[in-house]
Amino acid sequence: MNHIITVFNQKGGVGKTTTVVNLSAALALLGKKVLVIDIDPQANTTSGLGLDKVPEKSIYGVIKGTQKPKDILQHTKIEGLDILASHGDVAGLEMDLAIEGKWQYRLKEALNDCQDYEYILIDSPPSLGILSLMGLIASKEILLPIQCEYYALEGVGQLFNTIQLVKENYNQDLDLNGVVMTMYDGRTNLSMQVVENVKDYFKTLVYKTSIPRNVKLAEAPSYGQDIFTYAPKSAGAKAYRDLALEMVKGANKK
Ligand code: ATP
Ligand code: MG
Repeated sequence: MNHIITVFNQKGGVGKTTTVVNLSAALALLGKKVLVIDIDPQANTTSGLGLDKVPEKSIYGVIKGTQKPKDILQHTKIEGLDILASHGDVAGLEMDLAIEGKWQYRLKEALNDCQDYEYILIDSPPSLGILSLMGLIASKEILLPIQCEYYALEGVGQLFNTIQLVKENYNQDLDLNGVVMTMYDGRTNLSMQVVENVKDYFKTLVYKTSIPRNVKLAEAPSYGQDIFTYAPKSAGAKAYRDLALEMVKGANKK
């Protein structure tokens, strides 16, 4: 059984892309066969993993049904880590699909051709639109990144409504894999307080590993590099390695 995990939070800027890039790299470095799927038109995961954004090699064609995953599949510089990339054109998909209809299972069906990956990580845009929904319908699990900030839990109720809607209508199997706290700053009471609040809410679903606020994590994408290539000794690299180990062990699911 493979893991198909959407890294999802409809809030913008909470660390979804940073998590997809570096967690997928960490999993691959642990020897797992990993596929990243970028369905965000911003295509930050695509560029963050060092790939050019090109229309011929984007998920657009796969969702439209004109290409197969193997037609657009690209290897990254990390062994065992492949990607179905995105491109700005994907922004037009939501409108196309809304008009065409019957979009719900297009990504899920495409994934039938990607069975030999142990982990499939999907990066979604910051919205509850068609692209995000398609990602959730194709997934078995959600990894929820929550930023350590005052409004951390804002929108979580809406998120649960969405998960419920997807479960009832399209995908009974969808489950919360876990919650990962991002941009944690141990020097501030606020960060500690936010983590406590989130733990009260999500209990054992919160990963023990929090991702610290670390400038190397913010710098790496401008070089098209994951954190293990850019700054392997940084606190950010250690955190994403620890998160990957915890995920593989299923340690938060006790
Ligand atoms: P969007 O909703 O726009 O897709 P996102 O949820 O994918 O955003 P990211 O792009 O990963 O969020 O992160 C938002 C910004 O915060 C980026 O500039 C990123 O480099 C920075 N950032 C993310 N995580 C960290 C971290 N742990 N430490 C420092 N900076 C971070
Ligand atoms: Mg993003």
